Amino acid sequence: MKTSKSITRAFCVELQQELSIVAARREYFSQEPPRARFNFLCSTEACRAQGVKITGVRYDVRPQENPTFVAAHFRANPNYEHHADCEWVDESEADADNPSASETLAETTLRKVKRKLDDYIDVFDPAPKERAKSDASTAKSDKTPDHQPTASTPAPDAVNSKEPRETRTHNLERLVDSFRQAQAQLTKEEFALLTLRIPGQGEVSLRAYFRHIKFAQLGDERRVLYGGGLVERYGTGFKFKFFDRLQGRLATLYVSPAQMKAYRSSRYISELLSHADEVRFFTVFALGTLKASPSGKSVSVEIDDLRHLAIVLGPPKAVDGIEPT
Ligand SMILES: [Zn+2]
Repeated sequence: MKTSKSITRAFCVELQQELSIVAARREYFSQEPPRARFNFLCSTEACRAQGVKITGVRYDVRPQENPTFVAAHFRANPNYEHHADCEWVDESEADADNPSASETLAETTLRKVKRKLDDYIDVFDPAPKERAKSDASTAKSDKTPDHQPTASTPAPDAVNSKEPRETRTHNLERLVDSFRQAQAQLTKEEFALLTLRIPGQGEVSLRAYFRHIKFAQLGDERRVLYGGGLVERYGTGFKFKFFDRLQGRLATLYVSPAQMKAYRSSRYISELLSHADEVRFFTVFALGTLKASPSGKSVSVEIDDLRHLAIVLGPPKAVDGIEPT
């Protein structure tokens, strides 16, 4: 059968685990060059047993500002038929224009908007919790549904794979990709409809969960702060200086060499930052705490977990005076 849903996870043959496309990109760029592309199979076991391949698109391209934004995503391979039980096959959803009887107009509209995104996130859980245990569990956590049964989300084992499941992630970079795609490809009105649930914080609008550094406020940090700027390296660590000021004060984000050393994916961060000479700036997204310096002249964004940092390359520098298109 053919798939009808956006495929948000696939089984990576080389890594022998299920991954989101953002996690696949991080693993890809964590390799030493020359980097090898991955092979992906469907996440549903019945499909995997039949060797049903999934295509990974643009996970071998660094996250970068681009006027023609194309998100990294998974795509069904047209040469393969999926099992009837496949989680990405849903005959009831085959015709997206026909709402089910129980659906309100607002729900139908929202569902159509979500379908425009390759990886719509329903729940973002910033608490690392069990992730810190080991490297292996860290890599897996991106796909692991939260094992806290609630009324709306029964234990994963008990769920029929065909039931609509909400997409949850701990992975900030994945949320950032989804946000960037929504920003680039939806209308303002569509974008405004999207919400995000944060455990312990409730439901917020996706747009409001991201705040540009120039609008940030001390003591109000339960959001992703972001902005463009330049990086200075300090050994394996670095200091990021935002272009925009926060109430007239310089805003920075410092990551120590020790923090980098302790982070599983520091090679990925270093790889992105190594392109500093080729790009006009970087954009960082961080979930941290704002601290004013003793002099009061500057403000720093402090992050205690590097999983709460995502970096996007800015546009390439002009070559020979020609502005890149
Ligand atoms: Zn399948």
